[in-house]
Amino acid sequence: MTKDDLIRITDKIFIVDSPTSGRFPLAYAFLILGTDTRALIDTGCGPEACRQIMETFEVDMVINSHCHPDHVAGNHFFKGRALWVPEERCGETGAIGLLSQRLLGPDKDAMAFWENWVRTMLSMKDYEHTDTFRDGHVFDFGGVSLQAVHTPGHLADHYCFLEPKTNTLFSFDVDLSTFGPFYGNPEADIPQFEASMDKIMEIGPACVASSHRLPVRDNVIEELMAFKDKITRNRNRVVKALDLPLTLDELCALKPIFGKYIPGVEVIYAFFERCMIQKHLEQMLEKGMIRPDGEKYVLS
Ligand SMILES: [Zn+2]
Repeated sequence: MTKDDLIRITDKIFIVDSPTSGRFPLAYAFLILGTDTRALIDTGCGPEACRQIMETFEVDMVINSHCHPDHVAGNHFFKGRALWVPEERCGETGAIGLLSQRLLGPDKDAMAFWENWVRTMLSMKDYEHTDTFRDGHVFDFGGVSLQAVHTPGHLADHYCFLEPKTNTLFSFDVDLSTFGPFYGNPEADIPQFEASMDKIMEIGPACVASSHRLPVRDNVIEELMAFKDKITRNRNRVVKALDLPLTLDELCALKPIFGKYIPGVEVIYAFFERCMIQKHLEQMLEKGMIRPDGEKYVLS
């Protein structure tokens, strides 16, 4: 691997492609070639890319944007190097079993499936972090720096990084995808996600480089707003499904948010969708948009 195999963002920052071109269950990683420090942000670009990056560039430091497997699965390829993770809930990262409890608990079936899936499909192994960062932390790599911007909602520990010289925001799973925001784990939070989107729009980046889509430089604010609005689109889909009173199980069976699941991983997709639906139902109950009627939910 040489620099030519990477996708250039600036003269010191490059995208490491994945065999899926950034698509889940893999993701783009970002290589920072500073004059003092060579760093890799996230390690979900696939085992072969991780191996080659380590061999070719001998990175000094790995940074995780948050603890989802498509961002941390390859951490073990960089054992012995500094590993920086977000401070938030950092005691529940690293061990696959702990992470499974955190992301899919208390659903034992989903947890067992997920643990096997990340080990086999993503070659994920346990890892230990060496350092933690928090909101506002500045990583200075020599000639290029990044400022950590805490953007919870997707997960409690989700971060973006701002490169001030070019006003580029590395936004990870604020990925400007057509699917929209993912909040399918118990700790995910819709109001926090919306507040994080507002925070990003206030920064007003000139370029948004995410984990699952190539950098966006045109109509950035419109793209960010459209992404945020997909939360409302999801809620409207839940409302539409509740045209008839339904139980939570009946509602989930209609897959109002995902529509369909990737074959072979239905168990975890069903878990994620249920989690997202439940968060909308909680909000709608609070706002009086729906009311419980026995086991069923009814529009008010
Ligand atoms: Zn994620």
